[in-house]
Amino acid sequence: MKVSKFGGSSVASKSQIDKVFNIVSGDESRKIIVVSAPGTRFTGDTKLTDYIVDIIENIEKNLDIQEKIEKIIERYREIESEMALPNELKISHLISEHIHQIIKKYQHQPHRLSDALKSRGEYFNAILITNYFNQLGKKTYCLLPEESKFYVTDEPSNACVLDDTYSNLNLIIQQQLKSYDLIICPGFYGISKSGNIVTFSRGGSDITGSILARSIHANIYENFTDVSGIYSVNPNIQENPKIIDKMTYRELRELTYAGFNVFHDEALLPLIHQNTQIQIKNTNAPDHNGTTIMMQKEKQGVVGIASHAGFSSINIKKFLMNREIGFTRKLLSILETFEISYEHIPSGIDNLSVIVNTKDLQRRKSELIKAIHNTLNIDEINIEENIAIIMIVGEGMKTTIGTANKATSALKNHHINIKMINQGSSEISIMIGVSQQDEHKAVKALYQAYFE
Ligand code: ASP
Repeated sequence: MKVSKFGGSSVASKSQIDKVFNIVSGDESRKIIVVSAPGTRFTGDTKLTDYIVDIIENIEKNLDIQEKIEKIIERYREIESEMALPNELKISHLISEHIHQIIKKYQHQPHRLSDALKSRGEYFNAILITNYFNQLGKKTYCLLPEESKFYVTDEPSNACVLDDTYSNLNLIIQQQLKSYDLIICPGFYGISKSGNIVTFSRGGSDITGSILARSIHANIYENFTDVSGIYSVNPNIQENPKIIDKMTYRELRELTYAGFNVFHDEALLPLIHQNTQIQIKNTNAPDHNGTTIMMQKEKQGVVGIASHAGFSSINIKKFLMNREIGFTRKLLSILETFEISYEHIPSGIDNLSVIVNTKDLQRRKSELIKAIHNTLNIDEINIEENIAIIMIVGEGMKTTIGTANKATSALKNHHINIKMINQGSSEISIMIGVSQQDEHKAVKALYQAYFE
């Protein structure tokens, strides 16, 4: 059995939902699908979840929300009318009252209110698509987290699945599949044991799909989106980059960290020991192979290059630093006090740099410098901003001599200064720090070196 998740753009209009119907009908093993809220239909369009986020902001500011609610109703009404659904299968007339009920229930709990509202895009879409598929003649059941005991932790907007969810889902799915041909689940949220609706982080319908795939021991988890797989490099930087054919979970994790966002990285976790293959496919070109993500594959060189700007480097110098036991521990505990997490720590014998997210640093920069100075008695400290991190990723580099050399030569040939370079012990990626203004030039140069 497969689990197939359809992202926002795949369920944004009646014509897209028809494609979903054809995809599902074309393969008997597609029995469970996860749907997002209606996403964008064209460049510049607004995702339905973003309208909901606007409502939440207006509530916080005590502003009118009715106009925004109308926008949501309008989106569903448009889809419904194209589907030519009879009145009893429509949902748009229920939305306003449903939203006001939630607002009333959680009026004194802003975080709960926010999660309950955010989840409604998926909730209404799952019900609507179920009704439409039934009308088209497919016996379809809408399995809501409210019913399936899809239990998650209680931290708002940061749900994590609880272990008993897997068996709960398995049980109810097996039961429902005796009477139905297809099950549709809304993505993005679960229910905490205290009965609250709790959402995953944004883009979290991917996580719902993984949890379902693990519950039913699916051998394939298909993730349908609007591109034919994962590009080896950001297509906004490099025109027409190659699509990655196969990659490992670890490679995807490394690339997602540095900016790839086709698949939510938290969605890898439920599947990590399952041997489930994840296939990233295109709803608009479903016959294209897409990208397959697996636990292991035959070794191959570099699979992708990702980059991310917005980092800062805290550069520290102290003579004989290497002899001082506990230096790094003390430094990290200062960062902990300031609630700053670090990304990388490239170091030399008398110097060390800590790479952090610039936005985590900004507010308390001078206080932090003072604290480091006072506690560690260092010779010099400075903070360098506007750094971009580039990750060159591929399990194969472990056995390929010259991978780093290729990168440094390419950057040298394009006159790009390397600020730092680091290869983790797992030898699956090389991290290169460059000035933010060189980011795109560097990525293009590296793409040329590895892929052309
Ligand atoms: N609708 C949610 C979002 O826009 C979740 C998702 O689409 O996966 O973030």
